[in-house]
Amino acid sequence: GFLSKGQLLKRLDTVIQPLADRETSPTLEALDNAMRQGHFFLAYQPKFDLQTGQVVGVEALLRWQDPRCGLITPDRFIPLAERHHRIVDLSWHVLDLALAQQARWQANGWTLNMAINVPAQWLKAPNMLATFDRIVARHTSRLEGLTLELTESAGIECLSYARHVLSALRERGCRLALDDFGTGYSSLIQLYRLPFDELKLDRSFVSLCDEDREARAITLAIIDLGRRLDMTVVAEGIETREQHDLLRHAHCDIGQGFLLARPMPSAQFDAWYAAQATQKAKALA
Ligand code: C2E
Ligand code: MG
Ligand code: MG
Ligand code: MG
Repeated sequence: GFLSKGQLLKRLDTVIQPLADRETSPTLEALDNAMRQGHFFLAYQPKFDLQTGQVVGVEALLRWQDPRCGLITPDRFIPLAERHHRIVDLSWHVLDLALAQQARWQANGWTLNMAINVPAQWLKAPNMLATFDRIVARHTSRLEGLTLELTESAGIECLSYARHVLSALRERGCRLALDDFGTGYSSLIQLYRLPFDELKLDRSFVSLCDEDREARAITLAIIDLGRRLDMTVVAEGIETREQHDLLRHAHCDIGQGFLLARPMPSAQFDAWYAAQATQKAKALA
């Protein structure tokens, strides 16, 4: 059929953006240097219960602050880190930063679920579980409210090994989410064979579900699939009121997106969350 102007612009974006990125791709040397110097920080995007509107937690999204080039987003360095086997170290660093932040929030009296993104390669790291335990022990004696979003690029070649590691992480109290469901390697066989608690519907369906009949059908079918499997369904990339209402009425559990809140560095998040709590207290008074 014909594409609407909105759809056309979105498709053009997928062509133009990678071209723009190619010219400014950071080098491996710069990445290693940034890791040594600690030039990474996390931005936190709130996740909302779509039925009540309550903030239930955040997703931690990695940012690289380069003194010369400015802010570098993950699309420009995660593939580089994966290609050159830096992604495991980077993932340990993310876990460490995220747990430190969660402990600070806990000290404020704020209980927020923390989701971090981890690739399949991380599951195969040497001494994986021992290293995980050692980093967790730096921050807490009892792991709580940590979600691992499995994001795919490299793929899981060995499902039985992945299942072993994921089950062990789950026994330690982690929630497991399958990220970007419906795209790339994020497949039905993984859903069937691996112990996920949460299904994250990819943004490419969410962003078109209010305009496009096919995208809407896929969105509704994935929500139904998640419910039948007793999984929490999360929609990412909600940008319009129409998308929000459609997902809410379809009983999608959790939502994330620029319409609701953008990813924020910790100081900005703290101010936002405090204001949000005040508003809620006022509404209840
Ligand atoms: P993701 O895990 O699917 O994260 C969602 C991405 O969508 C984030 O981009 C977020 O900023 C963006 N987003 C959220 N709401 C909206 C919206 O309403 N509209 C639009 N257009 N975008 C929205 P970001 O931060 O650039 O991250 C991109 C991807 O990079 C992530 O996709 C994830 O796969 C990867 N990534 C981010 N942080 C990490 C990390 O710490 N480790 C690993 N391994 N991967 C990460
Ligand atoms: Mg994610
Ligand atoms: Mg996602
Ligand atoms: Mg995504």
